[in-house]
Amino acid sequence: MASLPFTDQPATGGTQPAAPSSPMSPGDEARPGTPGTGENVCPACGGSGHVDGRPCPNCEGTGRVTVGIGGA
Ligand SMILES: [Zn+2]
Repeated sequence: MASLPFTDQPATGGTQPAAPSSPMSPGDEARPGTPGTGENVCPACGGSGHVDGRPCPNCEGTGRVTVGIGGA
């Protein structure tokens, strides 16, 4: 028994550059998960993720940005 091949490796891409933190969009005010911030609809594209038929540069096509909340 126990003749199965060892295939317990995680399916990681391994193609990302060495980013020190979570990816941020230009429209983000903070990293996702930062206390005091929240996800909001991108004001540049209205949440559609596209502007003039192209991916929104503000949210990078996600339609959402992370902004500070709580009345800064
Ligand atoms: Zn946008």
